[in-house]
Amino acid sequence: MDVSLVRKESANTHIMSYSIMKIFTFLFGLAIGSFLNVCIYRLPLKQSIVTPPSGCPGCGGKIRFYDNIPILSYIILRGKCRDCREPISIRYPLVELLTGLLSLSLFTYCYPDYYLYIALFIFTCSLIVVTFIDLDHQIIPDIISIPGIFAGLIVAILFNVFSFYPIAWHDSLIGILLGGGILYIVAAGFEKLTGKEGMGGGDVKLLAMIGAWMGWRAIPMIILISSLTGSIIGAASLLLAGKGLRTRIPFGPFLVLGTLVYLFFGIKIQNYYLGLFR
Ligand SMILES: [Zn+2]
Repeated sequence: MDVSLVRKESANTHIMSYSIMKIFTFLFGLAIGSFLNVCIYRLPLKQSIVTPPSGCPGCGGKIRFYDNIPILSYIILRGKCRDCREPISIRYPLVELLTGLLSLSLFTYCYPDYYLYIALFIFTCSLIVVTFIDLDHQIIPDIISIPGIFAGLIVAILFNVFSFYPIAWHDSLIGILLGGGILYIVAAGFEKLTGKEGMGGGDVKLLAMIGAWMGWRAIPMIILISSLTGSIIGAASLLLAGKGLRTRIPFGPFLVLGTLVYLFFGIKIQNYYLGLFR
């Protein structure tokens, strides 16, 4: 058999298995997104995320397994409960889609490093849950941020033993102190000046967790992106709502946005700005 033909064939198999893996990571992300919806709904209510199985918030009817397929079920049921026709929030399929797309993007970003993909996907899932709980309840549960701080540090330590993680353990440790420290000082200073609580302790612990996973070098850019987007959206919503300064806009979702932008584009943005000063 011709050697070049064999090579071509193995390259083709490689491309095919890579495409299959991409499809799989997308579907895997959709399924995990379905679980994240349960976490978002139940964690703030201090309910178990394992039992009982999901029920309709309208009639309490148990959701059948064939009505629990990510995205598809929502489309088939036209966004209504099969039993009581109560509308199902569009947010459920959107969270599933978001998780699926982030899983796929992380996989292609990390390929061929599967361990890095798994670690960063777990981190990203916790960020998704934090975002929607903060939007709904204006809290960031300690049950995510505090274990998340330790998990980030442990991942950095463990992965560096096998030397395929971009963040050293000391970068992670300084990230925790810097991330938590900066926001703590800002929050305490704001409280002292105005006598009002502007930023919650939840944000402080969230940025400490982000520092643990992304390393301290990521902190300045993440703060820059999140405060820029946060003030633009905040000013716009104040103008639109006209409720005065009493409207509280959660900061967690902007920290998450800044983190995801840094994760996927941080190095490119940094190089672009450094290039401007050359
Ligand atoms: Zn129902």
